[in-house]
Amino acid sequence: MVVAIDGPSGVGKSTVARAVAAALGIPHLDTGAYYRLATLVSFEAGVDPGDEAGILRALDGIRVDFGGDGRMLLGGEDVADRIRGPEVTAAVSQVSAHAAVRRAIVAMQRAWVSDHGGDAVVEGRDIGTVVFPEAPVKVYLTASVAVRADRRAGDPEAAGLTRDELIAQMTRRDHLDSSRANSPLRPAADAVVVDTSHLTAAAVVRQVLDLVGRV
Ligand code: C5P
Repeated sequence: MVVAIDGPSGVGKSTVARAVAAALGIPHLDTGAYYRLATLVSFEAGVDPGDEAGILRALDGIRVDFGGDGRMLLGGEDVADRIRGPEVTAAVSQVSAHAAVRRAIVAMQRAWVSDHGGDAVVEGRDIGTVVFPEAPVKVYLTASVAVRADRRAGDPEAAGLTRDELIAQMTRRDHLDSSRANSPLRPAADAVVVDTSHLTAAAVVRQVLDLVGRV
């Protein structure tokens, strides 16, 4: 079964998805890592984030092994830290807005889940709406931007930013992700929405496992 966990950045998706996957003994897939990888390889190829065809060319022919647990090997090199750096974070929403880029990446994500046996906890922005609309468990996590920024402090993507700059960047990324024409960030009609602002990660994990137990 696929457990879909969507929501904006810093809301606790990765922490919750990882713990739910461990409890269920199934793999965890962080789909944002693919868009970050596309952004990194575009930078390395000298392609502008607005150049859809150039991004597709840069993606074509790369050899990527995705551990699913945060590890990402690009031609044998672990780029997990580099894809979370501030430059990639600042440009990723522009890269992920291209329809053809999303089509290519969604195909990779579906293939990854099917190659891993079909059961996975998959986190992202469009998992319940587009990537796995048939998922029997769909959770959409929310939290105030201030809470989310505080959770992000100390992460590589927050490096060199003040709290206010981080809040501004997250607000901008949320806006780009939820206003884009292709697969915008929004809860699926049948998703359970959980406001995590005042919840511990363990409490959110319990809620998700409870939903899984009811399927
Ligand atoms: O989750 P993370 O912050 O790593 O995602 C980085 C970016 O990738 C998001 O801001 C969004 O632009 C894009 N993304 C997406 N669809 C997903 C996952 C991430 O568009 N399923």
